[in-house]
Amino acid sequence: MSITKEIRESVRQRAACACEFCGVSETDTGGELTLDHYQPQTKGGTDDLENLLYCCNRCNLYKHDYFPASPTEPMLWNPRTEPASAHFLELEDGSLSPLTHMGAFTLQRLRLNRPPLVAHRLFKRKNKEEAHLLNRYRELLVLLEQVNSQLGAVTEEQHSLLEEQQRLLRLLLRR
Ligand SMILES: [Zn+2]
Repeated sequence: MSITKEIRESVRQRAACACEFCGVSETDTGGELTLDHYQPQTKGGTDDLENLLYCCNRCNLYKHDYFPASPTEPMLWNPRTEPASAHFLELEDGSLSPLTHMGAFTLQRLRLNRPPLVAHRLFKRKNKEEAHLLNRYRELLVLLEQVNSQLGAVTEEQHSLLEEQQRLLRLLLRR
């Protein structure tokens, strides 16, 4: 069975048009990515949706047709069955640190700390932080506006109380 256009499209959509191993998107790379068989066809893998991954050229190149030949050989992380956070920790500098043996092996095999990828993670991280700061700034503006309008109301009330006080004082002094 060959991979139809529909299968390719559903794998692509399922992955939100981004590499399931490293996270770079079509927008980042400027083109569609490749389809990868988690278990290669040469090693008995099928065209089942569960065995297909949306994968960038680099990750596909480094992964090649890796699949453990025996249980003693390391398994590659399967993004279809486990989230990245189960095997990797993203550090402040944008690099990944492995949390498991599988993570360490995958990191090394797919070169997930290749410099342009680390730079890309750092860029995304900065953008996210900037968006967060901007949101907080907008929230503060709204709060300040609310406080200002409340302050305006209090000042008005204070003003009318002072006027009444003066009126009463004048009346009292007349007596
Ligand atoms: Zn990739």
